Amino acid sequence: MKTLNKEAQTKITPSDAIDLLRHGNERFIKNLKINRNLLQQVNETSDSQHPFAVIISCMDSRTSAELVFDQGLGDIFSIRIAGNVINEDILGSAEFGCKVVGAKIVLVLGHTGCGAIKGAVNNVDLGHLHFITRKIQRCLPTINKSNPNSSVEDICAHVTKENVLQGIKDLRTSSTILAAMEHNNEIKIVGGLYDVSTGEVAFFEE
Ligand SMILES: [Zn+2]
Repeated sequence: MKTLNKEAQTKITPSDAIDLLRHGNERFIKNLKINRNLLQQVNETSDSQHPFAVIISCMDSRTSAELVFDQGLGDIFSIRIAGNVINEDILGSAEFGCKVVGAKIVLVLGHTGCGAIKGAVNNVDLGHLHFITRKIQRCLPTINKSNPNSSVEDICAHVTKENVLQGIKDLRTSSTILAAMEHNNEIKIVGGLYDVSTGEVAFFEE
């Protein structure tokens, strides 16, 4: 796969962008990673970058977006934060990636076994963590109401998915730039779940 230039990036549609990530993850789980010359990619991206995707994923050490989607230098903007929550800085970063640099999708990627989700469900209070957990906890009332007898594991699984959907909602409602770009079919905002036991990403149905 060639390093992206402006012309190649322009030709990619939002649907193509999802396929590129889907195929990259298929390569990853089959251990068929593309053999990239990263030093050559350093050269090719030294003057400019034209990534096709913005990926907002957790800081978890097992969920590096470049690795799990088999991407090279200059391919994706990788925004990482515990619990893949959305805040103003992340909104600005996603807006920059799409509006200024031309990325075609924003993917909010949750994952199984997420410590931030567990912390939110168990109401862990430590230092500044509550800034993150209180964002995740917005999902809890509806989940508790609809599943009053669920185990903590089941609740965490539910919250993980709902937290991704909440992230998508936050992007759409808090960024008029991203909402307008999606409305004009310039980008798609999508969700997915990475399974830390298989390496597989399941994209949510749109
Ligand atoms: Zn996590």
